[in-house]
Amino acid sequence: MTALHYWVDGHIVSADSARCSPLAQSLHYGTGVFEGIRSYATDDGPRIFRLREHMERMQRGAEYLAIPFDADAIYAGCFAALRANHLADAYIRPIAYYDGGGIGLDVDSLIPRSIVAAMPWKTHLGEASKRDGISLRTSSWRRNPATSLPPLKLCGNYVNSVIAKLEATRAGFGEALFVDERGFVCEGTGENVFLVKNGKVVAVKHPDALSGITRTSIIELSGATERPVTLTELRDADEIFLTGTSVEVTGVSRFDARDISVGPITRELTQLYSAVVRGQAEQHRGWLAGDVT
Ligand code: PMP
Repeated sequence: MTALHYWVDGHIVSADSARCSPLAQSLHYGTGVFEGIRSYATDDGPRIFRLREHMERMQRGAEYLAIPFDADAIYAGCFAALRANHLADAYIRPIAYYDGGGIGLDVDSLIPRSIVAAMPWKTHLGEASKRDGISLRTSSWRRNPATSLPPLKLCGNYVNSVIAKLEATRAGFGEALFVDERGFVCEGTGENVFLVKNGKVVAVKHPDALSGITRTSIIELSGATERPVTLTELRDADEIFLTGTSVEVTGVSRFDARDISVGPITRELTQLYSAVVRGQAEQHRGWLAGDVT
């Protein structure tokens, strides 16, 4: 994926002239915060799904790292990046980080930067996964505990996701599932987890999991109950699905050694979510942000 133009600290710059220092502190220590956001082509033009909530979550992450953060500027930067790249259906990636200034851990003298990239949309688990479901493998890795790292979109947190994902894909699976040492389900490497049992939808709740914006939306759309879920209970589910900005609502078709069909409730929610994000559900149009410039 590549972008032609980026929004960098309030200005649109071409991809050729966007630069990052080899000594950027964030490159060495993961001290940045990012978001994964989707824009959709709707009958009224491009609309960004729950942009304000993404900005609020990003701001919380920036505060932990003392990165100066201007939510309104980045909000506008998301639309500017879309316009500069002539996109409507897109993935938007804002990041706030520390550029060059030394190799120490103090952040006071560093240069904070904010960038927004907008790219043509491509689902990270692939279109076939969206249709047929994905395979999910219980990871041998634990999720970063919230007592060590706040469960936010801090860049460094994702080393944990990357090594878990590598383990899963090398074993022939599409995605990894984090389970804690007590046997409670946490989340995927970039998704929250839901199950369906006897027609009831349950949203997995875990203190180490990211509070997903898609998860909150699906709880509201489905009336799901939120509660802790053990691996044993998940293994016994009728349906399992994952939610996230990128995967939207994606069913699980294989869970460890078990084949499981992508069931009717998962399919219904996949379609409902797809209609909501494209502005086809009147009562949820408020979740879609339009360009006001
Ligand atoms: N968990 C993790 C670790 C994630 O990276 C993501 C993707 N942002 C999610 C869950 C889902 O969050 P959202 O629905 O806000 O995209």
